[in-house]
Amino acid sequence: MNANWSRNAFVYLLILVAGVALFLNIYRPDEAPEQISLTQLAAAIQKGSVESIRVNGQEVQVIVDENKPPLTTRRELDIPLTQTLVGLGVKPDELGRVRITYEAPGNGGNWLALFINLLPLIFIAGLFFILFRQSQGSNNQALSFGKSKARLFTGDKPTVTFADVAGSDEAKQELQEIVEFLKEPQKFAALGARIPKGVLLVGPPGTGKTLMAKAVSGEAGVPFFSISGSEFVEMFVGVGASRVRDLFEQAKRNSPCIIFIDEIDAVGRYRGTGLGGSHDEREQTLNQILVEMDGFGTDTNVILVAATNRPDILDPALLRPGRFDRRVTMDRPDVRGRLEILKVHVRGKPVAPDVDLENVARQTPGFVGADLENVVNEAAILAARRGKRSIGMSELQEAVERIGLGGPERRSRLISEREKRITAYHEAGHALVARLSDSSDPIQKITIVPRSMAVGYVWQVSDRDRVLNNRTYYNERIAIALGGRVAEEIIFGEITTGASNDIQQLTNMARAMVTKYGMSEVMGPLQFGQQDELVFLGRELAEQRDYSEEVAEQIDAEVRRLVNDAHARVRALLTTNLDKLHAIARALLERETLNSEELDAILTAA
Ligand code: ADP
Ligand code: MG
Ligand code: ZN
Repeated sequence: MNANWSRNAFVYLLILVAGVALFLNIYRPDEAPEQISLTQLAAAIQKGSVESIRVNGQEVQVIVDENKPPLTTRRELDIPLTQTLVGLGVKPDELGRVRITYEAPGNGGNWLALFINLLPLIFIAGLFFILFRQSQGSNNQALSFGKSKARLFTGDKPTVTFADVAGSDEAKQELQEIVEFLKEPQKFAALGARIPKGVLLVGPPGTGKTLMAKAVSGEAGVPFFSISGSEFVEMFVGVGASRVRDLFEQAKRNSPCIIFIDEIDAVGRYRGTGLGGSHDEREQTLNQILVEMDGFGTDTNVILVAATNRPDILDPALLRPGRFDRRVTMDRPDVRGRLEILKVHVRGKPVAPDVDLENVARQTPGFVGADLENVVNEAAILAARRGKRSIGMSELQEAVERIGLGGPERRSRLISEREKRITAYHEAGHALVARLSDSSDPIQKITIVPRSMAVGYVWQVSDRDRVLNNRTYYNERIAIALGGRVAEEIIFGEITTGASNDIQQLTNMARAMVTKYGMSEVMGPLQFGQQDELVFLGRELAEQRDYSEEVAEQIDAEVRRLVNDAHARVRALLTTNLDKLHAIARALLERETLNSEELDAILTAA
């Protein structure tokens, strides 16, 4: 640090001096000496207008008048000046009137001249140096490239533990194994157990991924090395890879420990699309990470934890077995989770007795841990500004509104009571139809906690590997997709835009039944339209129509019939099971998420 400072100060001083000198050099008006030829000099001597001559090496200064700047000329090398002048017609007596002095060539004056000549160069070099540094940001990176910026949170001072991460019990359970391994690697090694090298934490921003990674190292009491993917991106070519090398080297020396790569999608994007120019640097960095991971032996005892909110764009090479093959999801918390998080953040803060955290949790569906921390902090600031001694409910209320309405991307987060009710009935409709159909996949989870795109969802997981699907299955899938919308129709008597995704899905299914699978009696077992599939993208390109206008109308009619039939069936189904629909919706409004057992319990009770 000190050495750097004095070095920088020196460089800046030099540049300043050079700049000033250059300025003086350029604007020295009397310093521009007039050049004359030797012939002119000879003529001047003959006229008697030369007072004295100074010879310095090849350079000749001609002083015509003491008060005027000298004229200069250059004498011929190896020939004495006097001889040249005589050769030019100067008579010896004319020459005798001029005082000629000789200076030893190569004295200080020359060096000074050389330095002055070099000044512009120094100045320009200095300018480049400054520009170069500024492009590197302020923190001296240019002087230390290649050095890992990994920060070491020493293992003997673990500050964050699982207790600080609220409401992520499933994630904690999955990470418990990693903690145990880091605590006692020998125990696992003795049994020859293969411990995962990499764990990928997946979830929207602010859900506590970074916090969780730190908590793992805190729980295990091991050092925590972290670096962010976006830091790699801003580096020079070739630096990212060497930083990765340094990071791993440092970590291996401190093992057992954790390496945390935040925002790994910044380096780990799918390679080779060639879009957006060259990504050589990113690719080299990514390759280096892969090389280092593959180089882990069973005795390395370093576990990589990476975080991303875009697992979909990650390079498949990262997700292969032996790399980031463990995935831990950090979802937006439901009402119970939010309550736990709020409790963590009010810990140690004075809270008024009127504060009802459960109420706050209830009002904040879609908020992530970072938002809730913000709510508590904002409320504390408000309370302080109002001169209160503790945080009251009114401050919390106001903070929720501020943060909920904060940024444009947050605006949708604050969901009105009515929207919540509509979502609850919509999802209940999907779930109930799914439960009442025989061949449908079992329901894993229903939630009205907003996800990135959907307002809520019903998560169905296939219990067997399906290869062949029959007509009943498709009809039921269409019915389930309609369930949400039909529930809205029945309960609220109107339709929202929330079902547009469902409608798209069911239309595609119905169309495929008619045109692709030959499942319509009217149309028969024929395929209509050539669907070019881009195999490697798994996407259908434009459909080639190979049928007449008349057939097109028949197809449309058939698709419409399939959907209308399903609609009628769903309406009948939900109307006869209205009490069940109400029960599920009520439970969703209360608890926001329901797992399959909870759904069972509600259905048997209703
Ligand atoms: P991410 O890395 O997923 O974007 P962070 O870990 O940076 O999120 O979370 C930011 C802050 O939000 C944390 O420092 C913590 O104070 C708070 N936070 C997030 N999730 C939780 C949680 N589950 N429990 C307690 N606090 C949380
Ligand atoms: Mg983070
Ligand atoms: Zn839906």
